[in-house]
Amino acid sequence: MNYTKIEKSWISLDGGTIGMVLDTEGNRFLRAEGDTFGLTGEIEPGLFPLSAGNAAALRSKIPWLTPQPLGLKTSAGTGDRLGLATPGHVLAFEGTGISPVFAQQSVRENVRTHRTPQQVMDDAMWGVFEMGWKEPWGADGDHLKTPEDAKSFFEAGFTFFTVDPGEHVRKVDENAPEAQLKDALKDFDFEQFGTKLETLLESYTAAPLPVEGVSCNRLDILTALQKYGKAILHVKKMFTVISDLHHGREFDFEVSVDETDWPTSVFEHYFIANEMKRLGIRWTSLAPRFIGRFEKGVDYIGDLKAFEASYKLHAAVQKHFGTYKISLHSGSDKFSIYKICVVLSDDKVHLKTAGTSYLEALRVLAMVNPGLFREIYTFSRNRYDTDKVSYHVSAEFAKMPDPEQLSDAQLPALLDNFHARQALHVCFGSVLDLYGKEFLAILKKNSDLYDQTIKKHFDRHLADFIAGK
Ligand SMILES: [Zn+2]
Repeated sequence: MNYTKIEKSWISLDGGTIGMVLDTEGNRFLRAEGDTFGLTGEIEPGLFPLSAGNAAALRSKIPWLTPQPLGLKTSAGTGDRLGLATPGHVLAFEGTGISPVFAQQSVRENVRTHRTPQQVMDDAMWGVFEMGWKEPWGADGDHLKTPEDAKSFFEAGFTFFTVDPGEHVRKVDENAPEAQLKDALKDFDFEQFGTKLETLLESYTAAPLPVEGVSCNRLDILTALQKYGKAILHVKKMFTVISDLHHGREFDFEVSVDETDWPTSVFEHYFIANEMKRLGIRWTSLAPRFIGRFEKGVDYIGDLKAFEASYKLHAAVQKHFGTYKISLHSGSDKFSIYKICVVLSDDKVHLKTAGTSYLEALRVLAMVNPGLFREIYTFSRNRYDTDKVSYHVSAEFAKMPDPEQLSDAQLPALLDNFHARQALHVCFGSVLDLYGKEFLAILKKNSDLYDQTIKKHFDRHLADFIAGK
C-alpha cells in the first residue's frame, strides 16, 4: 500500500517524529519514526490506526490536542455529525482570532448518529492533529439534560457544558391574575431557591431595575418565577454536579433556554441571570430564545428592525452582569443578524452551528456522486414529515423539487433551496443509518474538496465575528 504524508501533521517529539499519512482511499493512519510513543495496534512497522487508545496516547504527549475552556473569547462551535469536518473547520478558523469549539454534539445528535462523547472528541482531535492546529479549542457537550449526560461528556474530556433545563420550564397563562399565579407556586421549593416569595418580589420592586429599558411589575416576576424557577433550580443542580467533577478546575458553562415555545422576554433574561447569580452559578454563556424564527439551516426569518431593537435590550442586560457571552443557537446560516449581535454584545458572543457541516458534506456528495445524493434526497424528502417533529422547520413537501425532474448538474443547487435544505437537515439520522458507510467512504476519498467546501461555507459564517470588522 502507498501512503502519502500529511505534512501539516508532522511533529518531532522526544525520541522521534510522528504524523499522519493517508492511503489511496483517503483513510488516515499514524506513522511513527524513531519511537512508537506508546501507540498500539501496529498494522505494519511504524503504522498505527486512529484508535481511541492511540488518541489517548497522543493526548498525553501533545498538549494542544486537549481542549480548553475559552471563557469570554468570541467563539464558534462547529458541530460535526460525521466526524470528518474538523480539517475544513480548521482552515476556516485559521487567522480569524475566533476561538473554535471543534468538538460539539448534543445528546440527541449522539443518539441519532450512534456516537459516544469519546468518539466525537477523538474525531475532532484527529482533525486538530492532522491540521497542526496548536491554538486553544473547546469541546461542548450540548443540550445536556441530566447529571448522567454531563458526566459522560466530562469523562470524555469535554470542557464546555451546555445545560438545557427546558424540561423544567413551565408554560404560564400570561393573563392570569396574581392570586392564580401565587397559587401555582404553592409547590415551588423556596427553601432550595434560598428566598421567600415576598422577599423575592421586594428585591425587584423596591427600586427601578438597574438596566435602562428593562422594568417589571409583580405579575412579571411571578410569571418569570413560575416559568423558569424550577429550571433555574435544575441548572443549579447541574452546575454543582459539574463543578464537583472539576475539583476547582475551570470549565465553560452555558445555559440554554432557546427551545421554549416563546421568546425569552428581556425581563425574563434579567430574572434568569439575576437569580442564577444569586444562587452562585457561574456561567460563560447564555442562550435566550430571541424573537423571530431561528429555523434549521436557513437565514433568520422575521423583522430585522424588531430583532435589533429587542437584541439591544438583551445586550444591555448582558452588559449589566458583564460575565457571560450571548450564545446563538440554531446559529447556522443566520447571516442577516450576526453583525447586529456581535456589535451590540461587544464581541461577547458564541455562535453555535450543528448540522451545517453535514449539509456541506451532502453538497460534496451531490458534486462527486450524484447517484447516491439523488437517493438520499429522495429518501429525505419522503422522510421529512416523520423526522421533522423535534425541530423548528417550516419546509413543505410540496415545495421540495421533484428529484425525477432534475438533471445531475442541478442537484448541488438543492442545498440552496429552502425546502430541500430543511428536509436534508432534519433527516440526517435516518440517512446515516441507511447510507452512512458509503457516504463516509466517499467523503474520505474527496477530503480536499470537502475541506474546501466547509471552509468556504464557514468563511461566510465567521466573517462578521472577526474582531474589528
Ligand atoms: Zn439549542
